[in-house]
Amino acid sequence: MKYVENILGTIGNTPMVKLNKITAEIPALVLAKVEYFNPGHSCKDRMALKMVEDAEADGRLKPGGTIIEGTSGNTGMGLALAAIIKGYKLICVITDKQSKEKMDILRAVGAKVVICPTDVEPTDARSYYSVSKRLAEETPNSWYVNQYDNLSNTKANYEQTGPEIWEQTDGKVTHFIVGVGTGGTISGVAKYLKEKNPNIKIWGVDTYGSVFKKYKETGIFDENEVYSYVTEGIGEDILPQNVNFDLIDGFTKVTDKDAAVYTRKLALEEGLFVGMSSGSAIKGLLQLKDEFGPDDVVVVLFHDSGSRYVGKIFNDDWMRDRGYLEDEITKAEDLIKE
Ligand code: PMP
Repeated sequence: MKYVENILGTIGNTPMVKLNKITAEIPALVLAKVEYFNPGHSCKDRMALKMVEDAEADGRLKPGGTIIEGTSGNTGMGLALAAIIKGYKLICVITDKQSKEKMDILRAVGAKVVICPTDVEPTDARSYYSVSKRLAEETPNSWYVNQYDNLSNTKANYEQTGPEIWEQTDGKVTHFIVGVGTGGTISGVAKYLKEKNPNIKIWGVDTYGSVFKKYKETGIFDENEVYSYVTEGIGEDILPQNVNFDLIDGFTKVTDKDAAVYTRKLALEEGLFVGMSSGSAIKGLLQLKDEFGPDDVVVVLFHDSGSRYVGKIFNDDWMRDRGYLEDEITKAEDLIKE
């Protein structure tokens, strides 16, 4: 019989899929590491389980305890799976920018969801950083995960995602491109790949409204770079400890509109029904096209599934309200085409 002990045994070993149409203008082989094949439908299952295991091992998380985290949803889903199997309670503190699907999904897997305003300073008592910390202080036998500064996040990707990419490309990977939020994915994968081959180039994809690109290029944390944006999962108004800038060769920024449009293209042109940060990642890769030659093997990581964005990216009214469909003009010839 072939089975795993519980759902946690299905985390990792996600497929690598060649991109064909959307990358037609890129001379290199472009491969996508498709992380929605994880049981919680995102890359974050890996780091959530690792953070829980490490906290159990050193006694920060005790039997019957309550896990508390500020999460945009995907980490919450990963933590929920670990909490269910291992017998913990879970409180997820989330911003009101997040899609309703993400909140409903978290409740479906047993998490208590606390919603905070997006447009307040991180130090504001109402911010999701502050609320998570306060709830952790007030809740007995609780553990505050803090995925931004918890280095088990990077470690999970160093131990799993990096080696998987190396093995799936037979060590031929030359470039790795990925959206950056907490930084755990990029830093863990970068550390592993650069240890194997220091010539591998690592590019982070950032959003307009986030500090990463400017900080990498100037060393300055520029508050003028911070404003609200629509893309979920990437970009920050803080510098998380999991972002290891020394391992990242550069950042490129992608607009909300481009992220949305390219997320739709991935579904229509490649059959990859992925989330909005994957649209950012592929658009970022296309922006970097002059970096790649015909012998290169470029890996892009798609963090999550499109199912969490059906009311947003995959909804024409939502797209039109934001001007993301403004180029869509119905022409008579389109209507009579077969
Ligand atoms: N995309 C999505 C959809 C995410 O949930 C996250 C996690 N915040 C990221 C990208 C960025 O990954 P990381 O936090 O590892 O930088």
